[in-house]
Amino acid sequence: MSESSRYHPQAIEASWQQQWQEQGLHATPALQPGDDAFYALSMFPYPSGNLHMGHVRNYVITDVVARVARLRGKRVLHPMGWDAFGLPAENAAIERGVDPGAWTDQNIAAMRQQLNQLGLSIDWDRELATCHSDYYRWTQWLFLQFLEAGLAYQKDATVNWDPVDQTVLANEQVDSEGRSWRSGALVEKRKLRQWFLKITAYADQLLDDLPKLEGWPERVRTMQANWIGRSTGAELSFPVVDADGHDTAERITVFTTRPDTIYGASYVVLAPEHPLVARLTTEEQAIHVEAFCDLVSRQSEQERTADDKPKRGVPIGARVRNPANGELIPLWIADYVLAEYGTGAVMGVPAHDQRDFVFARQYELPVRQVIIPEGSDEHAYEGGAWTEAGVLIHSGRFDGLASGEAKAAITAAAEVEGWGRAKVQFRLRDWLISRQRYWGCPIPVIHCDSCGVVPVPVEQLPVELPRDVAFSGKGGSPLAQLESWWQVACPCCGAPARRETDTMDTFMCSSWYFLRYSDSHNTALPFSREAVDSWLPVDQYVGGIEHAILHLLYSRFFTKVLRDRGLLGFDEPFQRLLTQGMVQGITYKNPHSGKYIAPADVTDPTDPRDPVTGEVLEVFYEKMSKSKYNGVDPAVVIDKYGADTARMFILFKAPPEKDLEWDDADVEGQFRFLQRIWRLVDGAAERGLSLADGAGTAAIVAGALADGELSGDEQELRRAVHTAITEISDDLDGDYQFNTAVSELMKLSNAMAAHLEASRPALACEALRTLLILLAPFAPHLAEELWQKLGGRSQAEALAGSSVHLQSWPSADPAALVRSTVPLVIQIKGKVRGSLEVPADADKATLEQLALASDIATKWLEGKPPSRVIVVPGKLVNLVP
Ligand SMILES: [Zn+2]
Repeated sequence: MSESSRYHPQAIEASWQQQWQEQGLHATPALQPGDDAFYALSMFPYPSGNLHMGHVRNYVITDVVARVARLRGKRVLHPMGWDAFGLPAENAAIERGVDPGAWTDQNIAAMRQQLNQLGLSIDWDRELATCHSDYYRWTQWLFLQFLEAGLAYQKDATVNWDPVDQTVLANEQVDSEGRSWRSGALVEKRKLRQWFLKITAYADQLLDDLPKLEGWPERVRTMQANWIGRSTGAELSFPVVDADGHDTAERITVFTTRPDTIYGASYVVLAPEHPLVARLTTEEQAIHVEAFCDLVSRQSEQERTADDKPKRGVPIGARVRNPANGELIPLWIADYVLAEYGTGAVMGVPAHDQRDFVFARQYELPVRQVIIPEGSDEHAYEGGAWTEAGVLIHSGRFDGLASGEAKAAITAAAEVEGWGRAKVQFRLRDWLISRQRYWGCPIPVIHCDSCGVVPVPVEQLPVELPRDVAFSGKGGSPLAQLESWWQVACPCCGAPARRETDTMDTFMCSSWYFLRYSDSHNTALPFSREAVDSWLPVDQYVGGIEHAILHLLYSRFFTKVLRDRGLLGFDEPFQRLLTQGMVQGITYKNPHSGKYIAPADVTDPTDPRDPVTGEVLEVFYEKMSKSKYNGVDPAVVIDKYGADTARMFILFKAPPEKDLEWDDADVEGQFRFLQRIWRLVDGAAERGLSLADGAGTAAIVAGALADGELSGDEQELRRAVHTAITEISDDLDGDYQFNTAVSELMKLSNAMAAHLEASRPALACEALRTLLILLAPFAPHLAEELWQKLGGRSQAEALAGSSVHLQSWPSADPAALVRSTVPLVIQIKGKVRGSLEVPADADKATLEQLALASDIATKWLEGKPPSRVIVVPGKLVNLVP
């Protein structure tokens, strides 16, 4: 074989990438009315500067979706951008003195180049970066829309405060012991005035629209529903009593989903941050309450509410009256009650709530049963609370009612008597969007002593981030320290005023980027209504499960608000969602020391041992990460095998939503498969086959079929080709089963290797042509190179319009799938003794005749007629001697 005819991915991939770019192959077409638009979108990355295998898998999946849609005649939008604000750039600035903007732009350039090496069909003309002012200008504009709609507001909220560096910290800058990442100081909780978006105003819609998202994984919809957490119950008021047991004017309002258990309430608990705590605490309890509040202020919300953590509390000395039965019960504070959730107060019903049960047992509070299972004796709650519905006891006028009726009856009584009302409550809280950081989108408002909060006039947008900033990591946000930046005149009255120095949560920037791609060069608006309505909702969104809640929920919220503002005309942003599985690498761990060992340091993978101690290592697959030394660098794989092999391996190794175990031998296997395809097609080209030979295929085939003139090889070849079209088309409809599609390509190439040479040029050409078009979405460079070879064109001569990627998806010919003969199994006395090829349409009598006349019958029956013959048409004939 001559050297020139070998498969060298390195020799073809870069030049095809360049040619496609020059020919504008991936440009988004202008839409005409009636066009079939398709929007394929990957979740955009944070520009860390390094592409990892998780990225590669995400973008390759989306790329195949986009390429298949194009071949199927759809008008495709497949963009890419950068989620470019956030902490790492600011940390780099603090630690190394680099400009965060320049640092980010360098990373973007590096990653764009790495993405291009994968052969992704991205329209780079629509690229955006959230940290560039031509983008964040519109993030600010949209914030003002929320402000105008009454959906953005300020209130006090708790933040992490580093007392040494005098700065606010993000949650990820506080370690597991509650210390600052930089100063090591114990982090304090401080109340600061913060900006919120009123996502709770859309809680009902965000929940009620979930069933519409049929193209989303069930798991993601469930996670969103739980996050929103709608519960129906009642708000009940417990009057605070004085030392003599008389009602005061103060009321503690609790929310409960179980008003039927109110007679079992034996205490009421407030969040330590509840505003009434200071006022109601008695003198004797003051010192305990203060110490407890101090302790709780150092705990994270997660620590406070985790099921496996002990619940702690102290009584504050005051008592309340149970409004249902008049009983006086103590008032406590406890770490598991959060001020931000519900009313910041709960009633303790130990017999019917497991958390209350544990708490009551620990502090020797009374446990009183008021619900029993229907038709049973009293439950002895030794093992824990009885949390199911049942029948009421010890509940005065409500005794004997079932839980469901009792909920309604007690709530109604409370409403009439003025101590409660029905209430729907959500777990979802308003979205805290302000950050006391530099590298984020500035919030476009001005604070004026006389006018209050004044929006920056739209014509003054963007409020640009100043670039001449010193980063010390101390003394609060660099913006707050830059007087020349924040000192402005009030846009309303002209008096000296102060620019807002908080920036936005980066989730703000990512909640609308998919809208901007539809019209990314618009300088008058974030996007035109016409453009956004013609491309969206996104047809297929692909990204990690880690975004199942926040990013997707915020994007849905933005979409609904902008719809209500008349800026777009749809309810949901993402029609279908695919959450791809993780990429896992082989991981070696010393079970005694807990240390991870790099695969390169393991001399014998069949007997893996610690290179230092000689101990036997544990071997398993886990998500690739630097700390476990189990990562595989995409650049190394591409250098060695080419992008097409990397793509084929990733698509073949596992269905897209499942985890994928990296395996070098399987990568090698895909490389060899592509080599076989190269030899197959290249060999055909060497024999003088050309795509031009295919012109008469249809006529020849139609004529030949009518005359029954296709040879056996030709019939097998056509059946393989049209089976592949049918199967691969099925695999790409609905759920994307790329792994089975690649298997079908392998079957097709095997059939072609067996029957191509013995088939006439027109039929061989049909097979070659189909193979390359079906292969094109998966291995785009190889398919293009071979397509041009068969077209008799060199790369330099390849013309716009001739690309394999501009062809149409083939359709299957049902006639080719029909077999004229089928195999018939011959059994003698129930045992398989051989098989015959018989006409597919043969009737029972014919099958019996053919079986009896066969060599198999002659051999096994020794000339005697059988005593019995059983015929199963299409399957077998059983001859019983
Ligand atoms: Zn003013």
